[in-house]
Amino acid sequence: MIRQQQIINWIHNFTAVIAENKDYLTELDAAIGDADHGINMNRGFQKVSEKLPTVIDKDIGTILKTVSMTLISTVGGASGPLYGTFFLKASAVAAQKEELTPAELVKLLQAGLEGVIQRGKAQLEDKTMIDALAPAVDAFKQSLANNDSVVEGLQKAVNAAEKGMKKTIPLIARKGRASYLGERSIGHQDPGATSSYLMLTTLLKAVQDK
Ligand code: ADP
Ligand code: MG
Repeated sequence: MIRQQQIINWIHNFTAVIAENKDYLTELDAAIGDADHGINMNRGFQKVSEKLPTVIDKDIGTILKTVSMTLISTVGGASGPLYGTFFLKASAVAAQKEELTPAELVKLLQAGLEGVIQRGKAQLEDKTMIDALAPAVDAFKQSLANNDSVVEGLQKAVNAAEKGMKKTIPLIARKGRASYLGERSIGHQDPGATSSYLMLTTLLKAVQDK
């Protein structure tokens, strides 16, 4: 079981990791976008960390919905609505729940991913966050189907996300600002795929740490 406290820890840790990686994410965005991905994410998650104490005793659905609403209302740029949608769809799977089974955690991530796809219309290999998220969800699902533990499943998800993130380097961007660069987007790692990879590493850590 994944407990409510672990979800709180996840969001809390992710906030810190985004702050630590703010300049890195912004540098990645400087190469193929408008140099604000780290700034956008950090602005949103700083607000999230201010709101987190108000939902510390609430069910997982309420926590994730609060993350979503906060991101949507504070983050400009493509990533705000996209991560906002990720957490909104994820929250619906966790409505009223104080804990999640591993299968429910997969469903939660899957729903988040589907929300991002619906909203942003990106496909695999368009050089977006989907390139990290989609293989991660697949690997997690596959791992649980093979009777791995939730930690093993999430470790495989993180590995798949890392691979997917690195695979964005040679791709031509087909969605978002980077797509304006056409072939000049080749050779750079996608910032959103990078933040999504970081999001999954913090989820693994929160579940590992009990
Ligand atoms: P903006 O592009 O508006 O400046 P950010 O810099 O915060 O917003 O975020 C850029 C990231 O958003 C990209 O690296 C990419 O991963 C992601 N992104 C952009 N458009 C889409 C889309 N349509 N679907 C999925 N992800 C997208
Ligand atoms: Mg940007």
